[in-house]
Amino acid sequence: LQRIESLDPQILSYLAVNGEGALTAARNIDEKVAAGSGAALGPLAGVPISIKDNILTQGIETTAASNILSGYHPPYSATIISKLQDAGAIILGKTNLDAFGMGSSTENSDFHTTRNPWDLERVPGGSSGGAAAAMAASLCAASIGTDTGGSIREPAAFCGVVGLKPTYGRVSRHGLVAYGSSLDTIGPLTHSVADAALLLGVIAGGDRHDATSSHEAVPDYLKGLQSREQLSSKPLRGYRLGLIASTLDEGVDRPIHDNLQRAAQHYESLGAEITTVKLPMFREGLTAYYLLAVAEASSNLARYDGVRYGLRVPADGIKGMYKGTRSQGLGAEVKKRILMGTYALSAGHVDAFYKKALQMRKVVRDEMDAALRDVDVLITPTTPSTAFKIGEHTTDPLELYRGDLMTVNLNLAGLPGISVPCGFDDSHRPGHPLPIGMQLIGKAHGEADMLRIAHIFE
Ligand code: GLN
Repeated sequence: LQRIESLDPQILSYLAVNGEGALTAARNIDEKVAAGSGAALGPLAGVPISIKDNILTQGIETTAASNILSGYHPPYSATIISKLQDAGAIILGKTNLDAFGMGSSTENSDFHTTRNPWDLERVPGGSSGGAAAAMAASLCAASIGTDTGGSIREPAAFCGVVGLKPTYGRVSRHGLVAYGSSLDTIGPLTHSVADAALLLGVIAGGDRHDATSSHEAVPDYLKGLQSREQLSSKPLRGYRLGLIASTLDEGVDRPIHDNLQRAAQHYESLGAEITTVKLPMFREGLTAYYLLAVAEASSNLARYDGVRYGLRVPADGIKGMYKGTRSQGLGAEVKKRILMGTYALSAGHVDAFYKKALQMRKVVRDEMDAALRDVDVLITPTTPSTAFKIGEHTTDPLELYRGDLMTVNLNLAGLPGISVPCGFDDSHRPGHPLPIGMQLIGKAHGEADMLRIAHIFE
């Protein structure tokens, strides 16, 4: 808490700090230990964790970084919050994001832009930028983010930490402020792959409050990682790793390209067989994603009408109240996406846009599933560039959307992915390195294997 107090005024990673609540929870654990009852402590006993502010926390304001939810105190907590608390975790506070998860830099937060601890003039990525920045500055021991199209993996890459997006349905979405419900996932940002494995084991599992959650048994992900000391010199013998060729083509910064090639060589030296796979439809996923995500968002965000949650701007009639509340409460990017989504779903355009995008989604998913029948994991850079300057892309939203090229397809296909730190780029300013991320893509419910392969690289 002291560290947050002294450093966060520069980084701005938190929207709310749960000081009193965290101290009480910590004291309760101390008392349990002092009582010496011998009762087992949970696997996260005393571990201070921050939560992205689009996840409901009873008793702590939850805004999704949007003015329309300011002052909203949810009457219940998300399933993952209860699971974390049952495991002994201490909820330190709520982290900043692009409002409703719509963005890649936290510049779309209605409250403030978070700074990248590696260079305060640069963005931390987004939308879970507060989470990644808090991790990079050690303002929590682990963090929970959400990923609809890359929002855990991209900020993890920009801030040099590990970010895990689970298989769709692996972690309950109950209590998550919905953006694109068929794409939304919740996962951890951590300092190590082992921490990510531990956290995933705690938050994963079926939930009767989320009909899309998977009731498949949750393996002990942490146990599945062999300690590196015990490993043979060729621990990946028999594994096949596929580099997606198009993701190393033009449009990817040279240092990122070179680091990925070095990572592939490293994997080869560990015994893995590296193949280059051609996925001709991979680049097409982005268009489908930006149609489907905004279409689902336009439907999900209809609930913010001034009646049920947060902000209400009084007016004479109900229509005036809706209009005033939504005009003032929703930010420019959110409004733009609601308009695009409503357009794509409208009677005259649904076949040309929404349905076409659904067909594209299936093509992209089939292509990735087929590739994953031949290899254990697919590999790409997490992002085509390292962290960009605050304001650099504000006049060019398409450039910003293009940054999601490597990440969105996993959400379209429901597949798990992890971004792990993979070296640095100091070409922008010699002596001032910016982190690079490598993305591993696993088979559906193949987190255990994916984590093992990531852990060995670390
Ligand atoms: N940048 C993407 C978007 O703006 C992904 C966001 C996310 O995963 N929540 O939609």
